This record gives sequence, structure tokens and C-alpha cells, in this order.
Amino acid sequence: MNHTETKAGEQGLLRLLPSVRLCLQFLAGSPDTGAIPPARLAHASRLFLDGLREQVQAGRTDILSREQVLSELQVFVRTYHRPSLRRVINGTGVIIHTNMGRSPLAPAIAEELARLAAGYANLELDLETGRRGLRYSHVAGILQEITGAEAALVVNNNAAAVLLALDTLARNREVVVSRGQLVEIGGSFRIPDVMAKSGARLVEVGTTNRTHAADYEAAIGPDTALLLKVHTSNYRILGFTSEVPLPDLVALGHKHGIPVLEDLGSGCLVDLSRLGLQPEPSVQEALAAGLDLACFSGDKLLGGPQAGILVGRVALIEQIRRNPLTRALRIDKLTLAALEAVLRLYLDEQSALAEIPTLRMLAEPEASVRKRAQHFLDAAPAALSAACQLELCAMQAQAGGGSLPAQHLPSWGLALRPKSMSAQELELRLRRTPVPVIGRMEHDALYLDMRTIAQEEEPLLAHSLQHALALP
Ligand SMILES: *Cc1c(COP(=O)(O)O)cnc(C)c1O
Repeated sequence: MNHTETKAGEQGLLRLLPSVRLCLQFLAGSPDTGAIPPARLAHASRLFLDGLREQVQAGRTDILSREQVLSELQVFVRTYHRPSLRRVINGTGVIIHTNMGRSPLAPAIAEELARLAAGYANLELDLETGRRGLRYSHVAGILQEITGAEAALVVNNNAAAVLLALDTLARNREVVVSRGQLVEIGGSFRIPDVMAKSGARLVEVGTTNRTHAADYEAAIGPDTALLLKVHTSNYRILGFTSEVPLPDLVALGHKHGIPVLEDLGSGCLVDLSRLGLQPEPSVQEALAAGLDLACFSGDKLLGGPQAGILVGRVALIEQIRRNPLTRALRIDKLTLAALEAVLRLYLDEQSALAEIPTLRMLAEPEASVRKRAQHFLDAAPAALSAACQLELCAMQAQAGGGSLPAQHLPSWGLALRPKSMSAQELELRLRRTPVPVIGRMEHDALYLDMRTIAQEEEPLLAHSLQHALALP
């Protein structure tokens, strides 16, 4: 085709595009889209028509009729009107997946939250005195009970907790940190940068692989406000290494009258070695070693909502609570409710392990994951197995979220090889289903790890697979 013919074809196709008015009429009359407010239908129609015009100008030629255009419009509008933040199925095998909201909440907690959210709450109301209360009081007691801390405070996330602690205790003064612990966590949290924002001066000691007590001691001076230890959450330094054990660091700090803060990262409250996992320093152990202040995330190994938790000496926690920055970083009502509910599960370790999804996924025996994967295969509808080869596969899951970086979690799942499309196409379609499924592409297959797919999600998974493969 020469240029003139192309132009003529383009004009013909553009004539098939309906007016916004016609689009609106069509959508408003259709049961699928009829309930959507007309202003939004008009807006979405304009976006759709603009997009289609661009596609035609870029060479799209497979538009055959106005009916086809209207049917594409309907799909577009339905997708456009879906909420942006939605439930997804995590088939990646990465348990604390930052891109997918880290820790899922236990279903019972989600129900409690829904009840609380629909009404008022005694968030800052002391029901005994009838006077104004503190939002922090709802979890301080239980945190003290579980961790053995003198006092506790919760804020928006752990990055905020670190910032607050440094800003309160070390602004314009020095904080001594080992070079081996100057971490960067995903999502651009870097200890040196947070330190700079807090106005504290970083004093690096030791080398990347080895730091000794004498290095800290030599750095301590009249301006030293804090000794900071940072949990190297997302990597391990192996080989010729040494770190100053926490009790020694605490002893050093106390000898000089300087508080010791540890950023624990994950906030583990149970002994993971009992689950056959690598030990992760627990909050209780760190405090028992004499640490003055610790901070950690609510949504990593703890398995709760996004939050930053500070525990430690009353005087330090009170000082932090009074910092005006705390108000700017305060925790929201729903988060607080979810956190309290998760912490209540920790009052009995067996309940915590059984009901907190993050811990349950970490602890599920390999044989049990395998059994669930096999059962899913056996129960798959015939149409699904006919459209897609499903194969049981051994896999490696991960804790993720900067937790247990060197832990291998043997797992099982499915390799999917669709018959009428590429695995890449299936991967894309699964991301676009009403309940999206996220897996891992490797070579010619899409892999779904069953460790991160809850038993309750299996029917949803089957449904999404059928949807993506366009099965009835
Ligand atoms: C994850 C992590 C943070 C950041 O915590 P958020 O809750 O994501 O803000 C800070 N420090 C360490 C050591 C971490 O592992």
C-alpha cells in the first residue's frame, strides 16, 4: 500500500468510531456498565476513543465494524472502572512481597477491622475517665507484655521510627554505626540518608566486613548521642567477618552513659529456629541483652499491618512521643486496630503460628505444600487441563521483605504451559483478570508457587486461570 491508500484506509476506520454520545447511550443501556455514573462513562469513552484513534494512526487495521468497537469499549470501561487497589494472588513464592503489600492479615482480623471501620472508636478517648486518651495506649501494654519492654510507641512505619529516634535523641550530635551495617532496604530507605534527614551526624567505624568494640570505643566522644546497630536484613556478609555482639555493645554504651538503639528491621517475636528456620534476632532477646531502644516493622516477620514499633526505656520512649514529628508520622486508626489484633495472637505462640499468614507460610512443611499443589492439579476442571499443561514442580520459596535473606524454603507449585497461547501471554492475561494472579516466568512456562497461595484462595486461582484462558 502506498501512503495515499494507507491514509484512505485510516479515514475509513476512523469513520467506524462512534461519537461519545453514542458510546454513552450504549454503555448506559448495558447491564454491565449501566450502574456506572454517566460522567465517568463519558470520561472513559473519550479516553477509549482517543486511544483507538492513536492506534489507527499508528497502523492498526483490524477494526471491522462499529459493533466490534462498542464491544472493545465495554471491556475498556469495565476495566477502567475497577478499583485500582485490588486483591491479588501471590504465586511468586516470596512471602513478604513488598510490591504486594508485604504481610496479609488473618481473615478474622480483617473482619474485626471492617466492624471497627464502619463506626466511631475510642481512638483517643479514655473510656474510664471520659477524657482525652492517647492512641498509643491501645498497643503499648500488650507490646510491653510480649517483648518485656518498659514502654512502647507505634508510628507509621519503621523508616519513620528510625527517623524519629534519631531526630529526638541525636539531632546535631553524633551516632556511631559500623560500616558493615550501613544498609539500603528496597524502596530507597538508606541508613545514611535517614541519618542526614534527622540532623544526626553519622560516625562510621570499622570496615565493611569487620568491626570491633575498640572501633566503637575510639569513636565515642563528648558529642556522641547514640550507638546504633542496624540489622543487615537483606544480605549476609560471609567469610572473614566480625560484628560486636549486642551485649558487648550495650556494655560499652552503658560504660559511657550512651544509649544503644537497634534497628531490628523485621520485628520477629517468635523463636524461628523452632520452625526449623534460621534464627532471626527476636525483639525479646535484644531487649533482654540490655538494649535501650529497638525499632522494627509491623508488616515483615511480625505479620501485621504496616507500622513502625519502638520499644525500650520509658524515658527514651516518652522523649520520642513528645517530639512534634511524631504527630506527623502517627499511626492511623485502622492500622492500630489491625496491629492490636495481631499482637493479641502473640499472647499464645501456637495461635500466632497457626493464624498469622506470614508465619504460617514460613512454617508450612514442604510435604504439605506439595500435597496442596497436587490436590489443586487433581481437582482442576477438565477444560482447564485441556487448555493448559499443568505440571507439579519443586521450587524455592523465599521469606522476602528483607527477612531471612539466606534461608532456603523448599516449596512446590505448578508449571503452566498453555496450549493455545504463549506462557508470556498467559502471564499478561493473569495480571488482567478480576483477581489478578502473579507468578514467575522462566523459559517456556509460568510458575506458581503454592506456598504463598492460601488454601482459601485456590478456588479464586482456578477461576482466574479459567478467565485468563477464556474458558467458560
Ligand atoms: C525494612 C527495614 C526498614 C524499613 O522499614 P519500613 O517498615 O519498611 O519503613 C528499616 N530498617 C531495616 C533494617 C529494615 O529491614
